Amino acid sequence: MDKEGYLSVTDIVDFIYCPRCFYFNYVLKAGKERTPKMARGSDSHKCIEDKSKRAKIIKGLPKLIKKFEINLKSKKFNFNVKIDCLMFNETFAYPVEFKSSLTKLFYVHKLQLAAQSIAIEEVLGKKVPFGYIKSISNGNVVKVEMLKALKDDVIKTINHMQKVLISETLPVPTTDSNKCADCYYKKFCKRI
Ligand code: SF4
Repeated sequence: MDKEGYLSVTDIVDFIYCPRCFYFNYVLKAGKERTPKMARGSDSHKCIEDKSKRAKIIKGLPKLIKKFEINLKSKKFNFNVKIDCLMFNETFAYPVEFKSSLTKLFYVHKLQLAAQSIAIEEVLGKKVPFGYIKSISNGNVVKVEMLKALKDDVIKTINHMQKVLISETLPVPTTDSNKCADCYYKKFCKRI
């Protein structure tokens, strides 16, 4: 969440991972860990940005304008997005999310792109038929159709997050106990 109270896509991903992580961070203000893995990811992003300025990012698309590191705010749904690369023309836009490695496509990857699509449509007024995830390690690309159901899931999640913030109600813990093993909030969580 930024200083103006806009939620970030990372917040949405964290909330889906475990709503309690979000609660500990923003309601109890228990802090948030930035892991060395996250730091490495940022460095890799910079590297691919430099390379991609000169190369074609997604083969098969018509010639499009490319912009990197775009920040957009959805005032309607109170969240912001940082788009690694946005390719666009007058009518259509295609967000590209770079990942250090992509061995498997998870649902949260699709939701990240869907959140970006919502913000693009609201702020830039362009249609977003597809988004892309590109692996930095091997250059593989996954095309994701921006279905209404995906965008509805983003909005539903954001509404749920806002409810937690306003009501300050402790959400139920994740049902996947494997997630708790390395959780930064493990100590707080076990005391509740
Ligand atoms: S310890 Fe488990 S339930 Fe608690 S915040 Fe962490 S992931 Fe969620």
